[in-house]
Amino acid sequence: MFELVFLGTSASAPSIHRGLSAAMVMYKEYRFLIDCGEGTQRQLLRSGLGFRRLSRILLTHGHLDHILGLGGLVSTFSRWEAIEHIEIWGGRWALNRVEMLMDVVFGRGQRPIEIEFYDVNAGGLMEDDSFTLSAFPVIHRGPGCFGYAFEEKPRRPFLAEKADALGVPRGTERGRLVRGEAVTLADGTVVHPDEVLGPVQPGARLIFVGDASTTKNLRQVAQGADALVIEATYLEEGRDLARKFGHLTARQAARLARDAGVKALILTHLSRRYYERDVLAEAQAVHANTFVARDFDTFQIAKGREIQRIRGEG
Ligand SMILES: [Zn+2]
Ligand SMILES: [Zn+2]
Repeated sequence: MFELVFLGTSASAPSIHRGLSAAMVMYKEYRFLIDCGEGTQRQLLRSGLGFRRLSRILLTHGHLDHILGLGGLVSTFSRWEAIEHIEIWGGRWALNRVEMLMDVVFGRGQRPIEIEFYDVNAGGLMEDDSFTLSAFPVIHRGPGCFGYAFEEKPRRPFLAEKADALGVPRGTERGRLVRGEAVTLADGTVVHPDEVLGPVQPGARLIFVGDASTTKNLRQVAQGADALVIEATYLEEGRDLARKFGHLTARQAARLARDAGVKALILTHLSRRYYERDVLAEAQAVHANTFVARDFDTFQIAKGREIQRIRGEG
């Protein structure tokens, strides 16, 4: 299961209720901060997440409303927090902008903590035995914009009652069967993995897109996702402005979700010019299972289960 916490859901400038772009994706021991708009460090504190284990930051692109908070966050880490090292992942253009920001804040070439920059290209970024993180290209203003796909690997559930019936003891034998190895019991019986593992179950998929000017190249990556996070800066009435500034309308986002068979659509990056209920209504007319994220909302995304939204207090 993935947990996704929104820390900032406003486009370009903050509003009274919405901070600038930032979100946290959590899976097992991992924490990924996605984007870091101005004010993100205070949002992290208000959300209760704090700075613990926050060492990996993924950037969707290099616009200021997505990166400006890094100056303050790194400064805080250098003064008070026991974080000596962070990783910042993003397209080269975004990383160049962050490096320029760091030069201004801390002095040319000076860094108060170790910052490792990772050039993101489309494809796999990391994986372990149950999870993969990959990047895919997004079209917006400026080069090297990326979205991120968080995917649980398919797995075969262990059927404990079958193992019990076959007399497989609790312990290392069961671990070996889960890994696909046959085991020989004390009485000489050989138990094969197929006897105690259920059919393959796909894992949950969370697709996170930042700002985007078109959805046409996103259909494939969004196909069948359990949750799709994407911007909805404009309503259809502002379609010309959306096109001019390289953003989407709520209806465009919803059409992508509908056409790609996405289960839950989560809209973010809202303009102050609109009411949340109008954004929601425009999208739900196309794709019923749509949410408009608010700051401090938490979403739980698990395979085979309705998405859960937990409203945050902030
Ligand atoms: Zn933006
Ligand atoms: Zn942008």
